[in-house]
Amino acid sequence: MRVGVVGLGYVGLITALVLAEKEHVVVGVDVDQGKVEELRCNRSPFYEPGVEDLLAKNRVTYTTDYSALGEVDLAFIAVSTPTVGGKIYLDHVFSAAKSLGEVLRREAVVVVKSTVVPGTARKVGEVSGRRVVSNPEFLREGNAINDTLHPDRVVVGSSDREAGDRVERLWEFTGSPVVRTSLEEAELVKYASNSFLAVKVSFINEMANLCEALPDCDVEVVARVMGMDRRIAPYFLKAGLGFGGSCFPKDTLAISNFARERGEDLRLVEAAIQVNQLRPTRAVESLREMMGGLTGRRICILGVAFKPETDDTRESVALRVIQTLRGEGAEVVVYDPRARTREARQVDSRDQCIREAEAVVIATEWGEFRGIEDSLRGKFVYDGRRVLDPSRMDRRYFRAVGLSRSGSTSGQG
Ligand code: NAD
Repeated sequence: MRVGVVGLGYVGLITALVLAEKEHVVVGVDVDQGKVEELRCNRSPFYEPGVEDLLAKNRVTYTTDYSALGEVDLAFIAVSTPTVGGKIYLDHVFSAAKSLGEVLRREAVVVVKSTVVPGTARKVGEVSGRRVVSNPEFLREGNAINDTLHPDRVVVGSSDREAGDRVERLWEFTGSPVVRTSLEEAELVKYASNSFLAVKVSFINEMANLCEALPDCDVEVVARVMGMDRRIAPYFLKAGLGFGGSCFPKDTLAISNFARERGEDLRLVEAAIQVNQLRPTRAVESLREMMGGLTGRRICILGVAFKPETDDTRESVALRVIQTLRGEGAEVVVYDPRARTREARQVDSRDQCIREAEAVVIATEWGEFRGIEDSLRGKFVYDGRRVLDPSRMDRRYFRAVGLSRSGSTSGQG
C-alpha cells in the first residue's frame, strides 16, 4: 500500500520504518524541518534500540510538504497530543486533519494513531472530509520496534467497514489478534489500558510505603508473590519512584478531566495520579532523614531518562527529584548513559558521578546501575528503582523503596 505518516516522533517514525520494512511505500511528513533534515541523513532524532539499522535502509521519504501525500491509500496521524492545564490539547491533530483534507484523494482513509479522547476521530473525519479509522498505539519506548512488529493486539475502530478492512490488512503481517470496535471504544481502550497500568504502579507503590513502615518487609517479595496469582499477573507491579514519560502522566490527567466534564469521576485514576505525585518528595524526605539534612550536600543522581533504553526525559520522575533536592539547597550531579538534562551538572561516567558525591540516588533502572554495590561503599544510598541487593549494603547508610526502615530484611526472600 501507499502509506502516509504525519508526525515523525517516537510513534510515527517507528510506524513508518516498520511499514517500509514490510515493503509498503511510505511518505513521512513532519512540520519540524530540522527533524526532517536529520532523518534524510539517516540520523534518528531520538535514541531507540534498532532504529538506526532501519533508518540505514532508508526506504521512507521524509518531507515537510503535505502535498507529497497526494497518492497515498491511507494516512496515519501520529502527532503529539500533550495535556495542557490538565486537558488534552488537540490542535496538532486537527491541524493535521485539515492539511490532509486538502491533499488526500477522496477515497483515502485517515487513521488516527495519536492518543486522543473519545469523539476526536469522529471530528477528524469531519475536518478532513475523509473516512476515518481509530488505530491506537500501544508501543513502549525502548522496545518500540518489537512492539510494532508483534503487538499484543491490534485495535481497529471504525464505522466504515472497508476503511477498517484496509487498516486490518496493513497490520496482517504482525499475526496479532485484531479487534474491531467502534471509533469511541478504540479511543477509550487506549486510555483505559494506560490508566489501569498507572493504577497498578501506584497501588504497589502504596504497598511499598507500608512495607517501609513495617519490620522485616520487602515490597519486592510481596509483589512477586502477588504476581504469581494469574488474576493479578507480575507486570507493572514494580515499586519505585513512580511513573513518568510521555504517556501515563498526560493520559491519566486527560482522561480524568474528560470524564469529569461528562459528569463522571474516575476516582481510582485520580488517586493513582495523586500517589504518583508524592513519590519524588517521599524519596527526598527519606534521603534527608538518613543524611540528617541536605543543604550544601552533594548528591549524585544515576539516571534521568524516565525509564531505561530511552533518552526520553519527558515527565521523568528523576527530574522532579533533582528539582526538589536543589530546592532544598543540595548540589546535584547527574549521570545517564543516554539522556541529557540541563537541570543539573552532568558528567560522562557513572563512577565519576558516584565519586564526586556524598550520596547516590538511583532514579532510572538502567542495567549498568546493577551490581555496583561495592563502588557505593562509604556513600549514603537511596535505591529508587530497586536495582541493588540490600544484603550487600550497609543498612545504616542505605534506604530503598519498599524496604523496611528497621529490621533485618535481607531482600533475598
Ligand atoms: P512526539 O512528540 O515524539 O512526536 C510528535 C511529532 O509530531 C513531532 O515530531 C512534531 O513535530 C510532529 N507534529 C506536530 N504537529 C504536526 C502537524 N500538524 N503536522 C505534522 N507533524 C506534526 O510524540 P510521540 O511520543 O511519537 O507521540 C505521538 C502520539 O502517540 C501521542 O498522541 C502519544 O500520546 C501517542 N503515543 C505515544 C507513545 C510513546 O511511547 N511515545 C506510545 C503510544 C502512544
